[in-house]
Amino acid sequence: EVADDQPVQNGLNLRSPICCIMGHVDAGKTKLLDCIRGTRVQEGEAGGITQQIGATYFPAENIRERTKELKANAKLNVPGLLVIDTPGHKSFTNLRSRGSSLCDIAVLVVDIMHGLEPQTIESLNFLKKGNTNFVIALNKVDRLYGWKTCRNAPIGKAIGQQSKDVMMEFNTRLTQIITQFKEQGLNTELYYKNKEMGDTYNIVPTSAISGEGIPDLLLLLVQWAPKTMIKRLTCSEKLQCTVLEVKVVEGHGTTIDVVLVNGMLHEGDRIVVCGMQGPVVTSIRALLTPHPMRELRVKGTYLHHKEIKVVQGIKIAAQGLQHAIAGTSLYVVGPNDDIEYIKESAMDDVNSVISRIDKS
Ligand code: GDP
Repeated sequence: EVADDQPVQNGLNLRSPICCIMGHVDAGKTKLLDCIRGTRVQEGEAGGITQQIGATYFPAENIRERTKELKANAKLNVPGLLVIDTPGHKSFTNLRSRGSSLCDIAVLVVDIMHGLEPQTIESLNFLKKGNTNFVIALNKVDRLYGWKTCRNAPIGKAIGQQSKDVMMEFNTRLTQIITQFKEQGLNTELYYKNKEMGDTYNIVPTSAISGEGIPDLLLLLVQWAPKTMIKRLTCSEKLQCTVLEVKVVEGHGTTIDVVLVNGMLHEGDRIVVCGMQGPVVTSIRALLTPHPMRELRVKGTYLHHKEIKVVQGIKIAAQGLQHAIAGTSLYVVGPNDDIEYIKESAMDDVNSVISRIDKS
């Protein structure tokens, strides 16, 4: 079975930003991902959300639809948003593709009832170190005593429906949390009050249970974030591809799951990845993605592609991958490339990955 559906590129030629979700255990990372992913998946392919290898893809149309109430009909300059599926995996901000973090933007989830916790601060330090942009989801607003549910509503609308007491508790907690961020050296502000976007980080109150604030969060990720990183998101021909995982799959042997950030991959491409016992040079036997419809996804069956060129999660089957190392870059050997040089570049990654593993 062969698929060749490639989304049309936008005028500015920006690629989809890659997003990961971080924060303290129990802050609601998994639930938040479920919430932004789940709403439309039930309605089949209309929403266009596709689950990929290690990631979920949200097309711009889906996000536009879900943010309608924000009257933000402004055009979205990115084709969509790719959210990495394993929340809280701190290696994702650490995973590098040619020197820069795989994630373009992160959502830092903070429980409004708990404020900053040890792993919030740990995540924060990762983000600072990697110079990764992020938005703060101040989650579990529905737990404020007396909160009136406004399912999937923009946060401004939801807040407008709350009683004085709820607002008082909300403001007290918000002020405390802004102070806690300040103690970490960061200025933060409710996003709709934030006039200094860029220097002051945005806070979006959310509920991953009833969906308040989720439209705002999505819109920030696809509309505001790209404005701050036009250069980073401009599509280039140069291959940028990061190995997420090395896995044995029945019928395919050892495979690697990768995120293609930029450039193109073809069946048959000669590739080099970093391995435990030196560089692995091999050829792509199969470029695989899951079937678009969940129901059709029988375990172990994938769509085969002749080539893939947009940001997405892909499974690659090839010989000799059993020693490949997750978190390193994948290289393609072109007809005029010096293979020895590429092998060296591939192995350059290993030292940095190993030193990061040691530290954590
Ligand atoms: P993670 O460890 O950060 O991935 O946290 P989970 O997503 O597993 O959530 C931890 C617990 O908090 C679960 O029992 C969730 O149901 C609950 N939870 C998450 N988000 C919310 C929220 O917005 N409101 C409420 N009331 N509970 C939440």
